[in-house]
Amino acid sequence: HLTKDPSAFKLPRKYKISVSDSWKDSANAGIADLGFIAKEFDGKRGFSVYGGGGLGPNPSRSILLNEFIDDKMILYHVEAMKILFQREGDYENRNKARIRYILGRLGEDKFKELYKDILQEVIKNNDLDLTVEYGIDAEKKRPVMKIDKKDRLLPQIQSGKYSVYVHPTGGYISTDDLKSITGFLKYLPYETSIRLTSTQGFYIRDLSHSDGETLLKVIEDIMPDYPLASSVSCTGADTCRIGILKSKELLGEIVKRFNDEQLDTKRQLPRIFISGCRNSCGQHQKGEIGLCGKKKKVNGRAMPFYAVFLNGLAEGNNTRLGAEMGDVPAKKIPEFLVAVAKSLKNAGGIDQKEVSGLIEKYNVFNSDIPEDMYLDY
Ligand code: SF4
Repeated sequence: HLTKDPSAFKLPRKYKISVSDSWKDSANAGIADLGFIAKEFDGKRGFSVYGGGGLGPNPSRSILLNEFIDDKMILYHVEAMKILFQREGDYENRNKARIRYILGRLGEDKFKELYKDILQEVIKNNDLDLTVEYGIDAEKKRPVMKIDKKDRLLPQIQSGKYSVYVHPTGGYISTDDLKSITGFLKYLPYETSIRLTSTQGFYIRDLSHSDGETLLKVIEDIMPDYPLASSVSCTGADTCRIGILKSKELLGEIVKRFNDEQLDTKRQLPRIFISGCRNSCGQHQKGEIGLCGKKKKVNGRAMPFYAVFLNGLAEGNNTRLGAEMGDVPAKKIPEFLVAVAKSLKNAGGIDQKEVSGLIEKYNVFNSDIPEDMYLDY
């Protein structure tokens, strides 16, 4: 719909639309410009509609715009939010041009009222009904994926078919590793497919159970066997022109450091989210633990630091942005995370006070600061 509409190419800035198929909200509909989360109501299939959210500077979670819409109505909402963006968006200041700033300026009530009025106009003047076809038994509930070795082989909704989740560290896979996977798939007597995730991994789909188990062995050396190693990092300052720190390299160092630990320490931490700067491409505000790159002066010289965020969650109505707890020098982050993991072993969950104490501890410098502390990875 939008790519056929020339006006959609002249919006003030990005207009991101997300569609999630369950309340687990893996597509981040709860923090998008416009988000749809599939639900059933009164025997009908449709979506809850959210809008006005986004990460980056001045992040905000989306607000609920409609508890339930029929699935055929989705394009009316896409069009209504586009028109609202055209009418109210900031064409002068690029830094404040996203839809979340309109929500901030108008407030929730006025934003909702305006959206509703535009939606009525769109419904009255257009015929945008969608015909949604369901090829599978939608009554079956999709299993929820945990990043855990035993859960990497997942039953699909389609009877007898399985998916294997692959997550090479930082989303990078060597050609040799890729060849070992495609080499295995090539000889299967049926077709498989691959789907990329928004979290730097991919699913190999439509496998039989026994082939899925064999594939798990093929990827054993590619897949780290603890959730932290499946963490997400933006590309970072190595290749990003506006980036501040090398987030991808940091993730590599974290995994290297944790590889030396016992399995029970490795498994204490969840997948974390790392951004090289506050633009949030690594989605650090949505992680149980998130890190955001910055520089601060220590003894008059710029030193790389990461701001530590805790308790973020992207999950529809329950969406919350992580709370910023304080900064830790980049070079101390791997050791800091090991200390957090060990504190969790004792506490049985992330304790903000405990983490704050560790942040303070890792901010103490001896009078003689090693030169290396001023350099990024
Ligand atoms: S978060 Fe910053 S460093 Fe990372 S890709 Fe985005 S702009 Fe670049």
